[in-house]
Amino acid sequence: MSPTFFLCQRCNQPLKLSQELCAMQKEPLKAQPCASTPTKTPVSGELQARTSSRPFPDSGRTTQESACCTFTLLGEFTTLRTLNTIQNTVLETFEILSGQKDVDHPLCDECMDNLLRQLDAQLTLVESDNQKYRSFLERESLVSEEEKEATHTELLAELRALEQEEARLAQELKDIDHHCTRIAAELGAAQEESKALNQQEEQDWMDYSALKMDQLELMDQLSSVETQLAYAQRQLRHLRKTNIFSITFTISDEGPLGIINNFRLGCLPDIQVGWDEINAAWGQTALLLFSLAKIAGLQFQRYQLVPRGNHSYLKSLTGDGVLVLFSDGSHSVFLNNKFDRGMKAFLDCLQQFVEEVEKAEEECFFLPYKIHVKEGMMEDSWGSGRCYSIRTHLNTEDEWVKALKCMLTNLKLLLAWAPLRLSGAQGP
Ligand SMILES: [Zn+2]
Repeated sequence: MSPTFFLCQRCNQPLKLSQELCAMQKEPLKAQPCASTPTKTPVSGELQARTSSRPFPDSGRTTQESACCTFTLLGEFTTLRTLNTIQNTVLETFEILSGQKDVDHPLCDECMDNLLRQLDAQLTLVESDNQKYRSFLERESLVSEEEKEATHTELLAELRALEQEEARLAQELKDIDHHCTRIAAELGAAQEESKALNQQEEQDWMDYSALKMDQLELMDQLSSVETQLAYAQRQLRHLRKTNIFSITFTISDEGPLGIINNFRLGCLPDIQVGWDEINAAWGQTALLLFSLAKIAGLQFQRYQLVPRGNHSYLKSLTGDGVLVLFSDGSHSVFLNNKFDRGMKAFLDCLQQFVEEVEKAEEECFFLPYKIHVKEGMMEDSWGSGRCYSIRTHLNTEDEWVKALKCMLTNLKLLLAWAPLRLSGAQGP
């Protein structure tokens, strides 16, 4: 028969059986307590259908230790099987399975020593508590009734104070809860406001960027306009310094002939000038006087000057018809022909303009050649005092050319005056 081994319930170490239990394994079990360490279910050998629960014999240990050494042994040696043992085994198995009996837990020596040390420590604590309780009981018996009453009163007062403190702290806690609720509500509102402000800030930044872009564009436009203004002002200053009349009309002379815009006015036997050139020169002269009268705001009396190139003429306002300022050379055979009357009428207009200028300049303006309108003559008032007729009929070409040159000289001086009058009329 193989020997039976038991394991510790706590550390699963195999148990060392005492000599008595070993002997019990070798010899038929007698009806006496087994002297071994606690054992457990046999792990080897034939399964025994018997349980044994008996205390260990006292091996020099305390009563408590002995009480802990009662264990249940399942299985028994087949040689000891009797009807009684079988009945006991069945009964105890039934009690264990039905919960009417606890199964003892066998322990090894080391675990048992550990358990005993823990129990000793608990016992020490219990004895200490017992000692304290005893001392309190003795002290209680020594306290008088008055002292007990005073202590009770003091404790009651302390209890009430503590209850008041508790109530105060509860109220404070309640207030803090209300405060927390209000703070949470305010925090929520502040967060909403912060969110709205952030959105507003973002919108404001977008508006600011748009306005900044507009500002930059407007600055560019302003810079461009200022540049254009500066250019226009330079142009204006340049144009103000420009004499449009002196640019448009150039009066000079070539010997005895007066010249306007490169057209010679008049002819001599030794200086042949075509009538087309003379007519063109008259057209330029008429245009000059017309322009001067226009800037002076002068309306001629008796005549309307019509500059029209080499076919310029004067329209009489007194019923004399049209007086021409052009010819083809066939006019001189008639007395008071339209060409001569036209040139006399032109002198009339020129004299009106000269009088207008003298009136404006308060008689500080003088021309070198005096105009006799009725006779149609130009008088060299500053020189020889001679008069030159502007007519062609019953007149020499030499005197006619001189009269024309005197007339152009007067016009040249008037041309120099015109820009001054023009700038004065336009202002700064
Ligand atoms: Zn153990």
